[in-house]
Amino acid sequence: MITFGPVPSRRLGQSLGINNIPPKVCTFSCVYCQVGRTLNLQLERQVFYDPEKILSDVHDKVKKARKMGETIDYLSFVPDGEPTLDKNLGRTIELLRPLEIKIAVITNGSLIWLEDVREDLMKADWVSLKIDSVMEKTWRKINRPQKRLQLDSILNGMLKFKRNYTGELVTETMLSEGVNDGVDNLTAVADFLSRLQPVKAYLSIPTRPPAEKRILPPSEEVINRAYQILNKKLDRVEYLIGYEGNAFAFTGKAEEDLLSITAVHPMREEAVIQLLSKAKANWSVVRRLIDQAKLIESEYEGQKFYLRRFPRRKQRALPDTD
Ligand code: SF4
Repeated sequence: MITFGPVPSRRLGQSLGINNIPPKVCTFSCVYCQVGRTLNLQLERQVFYDPEKILSDVHDKVKKARKMGETIDYLSFVPDGEPTLDKNLGRTIELLRPLEIKIAVITNGSLIWLEDVREDLMKADWVSLKIDSVMEKTWRKINRPQKRLQLDSILNGMLKFKRNYTGELVTETMLSEGVNDGVDNLTAVADFLSRLQPVKAYLSIPTRPPAEKRILPPSEEVINRAYQILNKKLDRVEYLIGYEGNAFAFTGKAEEDLLSITAVHPMREEAVIQLLSKAKANWSVVRRLIDQAKLIESEYEGQKFYLRRFPRRKQRALPDTD
């Protein structure tokens, strides 16, 4: 199926997915990939589907959605592989323009050192780049790139792209326990992101069965630590962890607001106190959520934080570094 949805997406609102790559052709074979191991690990861009065919599929879906009164906020290239391997990505984006819907591309960024790939991505309104590690050994371990790929060229390509890109650039860092969640790796990622200056830097964890069974999401404490490390260098860091949360919609219901904000980022103790007082509630709400195992309290650098409890985790000690 070339198109799917529209489906709700926290980052993109109602998003109509475009699968412009057959499963599973990619430049990486990430250990956490939810599509499984990469079957064709390749670097060469090629033609997969006729752009006219993609246009006609998207056109049909948009027509149906509009008839049902549904809105579509974004047409999103989010295939079962790497979307920039499609030689016709730029041409397809151009063909979709008359539909007057914003266009997003979620890419691993591995081919961004190529000028034609940068040109294609420039045509999108919103681009997400994957940055799990900027350290050679860790990068190879987590993303298992095609052998000829070079990390330096990719990182330079990203910086080059950002200099001329007028759309919204975001990044996504997927955390895997014991692979890239150490202090050294995240400090290096934060340094690179502070140069890249994405509009938002998202932190995510594997929430669906990964390509390699041994891969686990880190504990809440480690995710909080990762958040704090990135947050020191960047203004806008958010979780992207499966819960739908909107930190900016205050409902006045203390419990709901606490859960939706902590689904996006950890809260300091004083922020929780402030929220409770605004909602005319007291600390018993926090105690109840902790008792119900929906919230946890954690300390980082002498400060208390309140975190949403994530699925399938048991508590464990912080690993030191990679
Ligand atoms: S880049 Fe995306 S599609 Fe490719 S292996 Fe990694 S997670 Fe899977």
